[in-house]
Amino acid sequence: MPLKIYNSYTRQKEEFVSITPGHVGMYVCGPTVSGESHLGHARPYITFDVVYRYLTYKGNKVRYVRNITDAGHFEEEGREAEDKVGKKAILEKLEPMELVQKYTNLFHWAMKEFNCIEPSIEPTATGHIVEQLNMIEEIIKAGYAYEVNGSVYFDVKKYAATHDYGKLSGRVIEDLLETTRELDGQEEKRDRADFALWKNAAPEHIMRWKSPWGDGFPGWHIECSAMATKYLGAEFDIHGGGMDLQFPHHESEIAQSTICNHHTPAKYWMHNNMITINGKKMGKSYNNVIKLTELFSGNHPLLTQAFSPMTVRFFILQSHYRSTLDFSSTALEGSEKAFKRLWEAYEVLNKLPITGNAEAADKELDAKIIVSVNELQEFMDDDMNTAKVIANLFDLAPVINSLKDGHIAADAISASTLTLLKNSFATYLEDILGLHNPASDNNEKLDGIMQLLVDIRKEAKAKKDYATSDKIRIQLGSLGIDLKDDKSGETSWTIK
Ligand code: ZN
Repeated sequence: MPLKIYNSYTRQKEEFVSITPGHVGMYVCGPTVSGESHLGHARPYITFDVVYRYLTYKGNKVRYVRNITDAGHFEEEGREAEDKVGKKAILEKLEPMELVQKYTNLFHWAMKEFNCIEPSIEPTATGHIVEQLNMIEEIIKAGYAYEVNGSVYFDVKKYAATHDYGKLSGRVIEDLLETTRELDGQEEKRDRADFALWKNAAPEHIMRWKSPWGDGFPGWHIECSAMATKYLGAEFDIHGGGMDLQFPHHESEIAQSTICNHHTPAKYWMHNNMITINGKKMGKSYNNVIKLTELFSGNHPLLTQAFSPMTVRFFILQSHYRSTLDFSSTALEGSEKAFKRLWEAYEVLNKLPITGNAEAADKELDAKIIVSVNELQEFMDDDMNTAKVIANLFDLAPVINSLKDGHIAADAISASTLTLLKNSFATYLEDILGLHNPASDNNEKLDGIMQLLVDIRKEAKAKKDYATSDKIRIQLGSLGIDLKDDKSGETSWTIK
């Protein structure tokens, strides 16, 4: 069965045929590293991690490009004179690159916690200023951009007269004029729908580069067009991102790349739907933004407990990526229990001996398992339906548990079917859905806590505060944890 994916550009499910057989080029809009990632960021990166894993599983060599926006991401739609990184750097009293490094590290840490595979290339906007300048010059030369006071704007009206502007987002130009607000730079534009390719930097602006139009900084949209073209070519297979990026970001990317490359950039556009929190849109104005660090520590008023990264990943994959997903502490608690149950069944399955033979097997049960297992690929081929994959794995769990308990005879399943079942669980749970043992997250936390206690005890001993150091040792001992000091003064711990 061929893989079908929903193409947001044509608004229909289409058979996925890559431009070069066996190779897939995929671009996903990365984070703006002017602040901490939150729950809303988890969904696109986990979604496209699964897309990456599944395309690889299907035998493709995937070049996955996910950028880092470290300059030029405008504060909000319509407000174009502020650089998020520069603004936050002043606020946090850090060098812009120091700020960028801090949040890039934090983002990488969160991705690792979520077990997301690193992209093949992770280009930064600041590392590709030359490419962006070249592209802007091309657009000016083609007659679709103009310069005013050191800033360059894309001429949307001129482009829309001969191209399908608004096709991806479903917005019409009249709509855009009404929704674009009167803010900085608006008076410079020929038309309110125009967007900035380059902004002139005011003297106090710290993030600035030389350009043919004077010192300035790039617009957000041009960054993705320039980096996608550089690493994936004029036309590539998949462009992904959250649905909120369709307009203005992706619509603008299409316009820029079409003028420069004479081709719409991506063959397939994939967009994940949004996460709501207790039924409400997530946003600063709703006071319900949950940062990933808060989610993993439980330190947020909307959370009843800490949730492990694997629980969050499982929760996200329990819904199809194009459905809205409502987050609540209760929903996550449910996912935590469900994931634990499923993983326990998987561990039981791994230990089951292969003893059955085709003659002794319960043909009906055998056939049922084969159908259920074969459906896993059908579901993934149907626009990456991870929700249905998880539902089938759940349906198989009682059979596994019954085999263990002896409610189903060990040889009731043929050896080949049991092997298929074992392999399929490993492939889908670990390789494709990218899940791992939920208990290992807790072990990491325990390691961290133990190291902290060992350090506090060491400091207390150094200060001759034996009351504290003894208290730590004795109380841990009563919890069944033994501390052992070696001759060099290092401390190790064991659980009794
Ligand atoms: Zn982008």
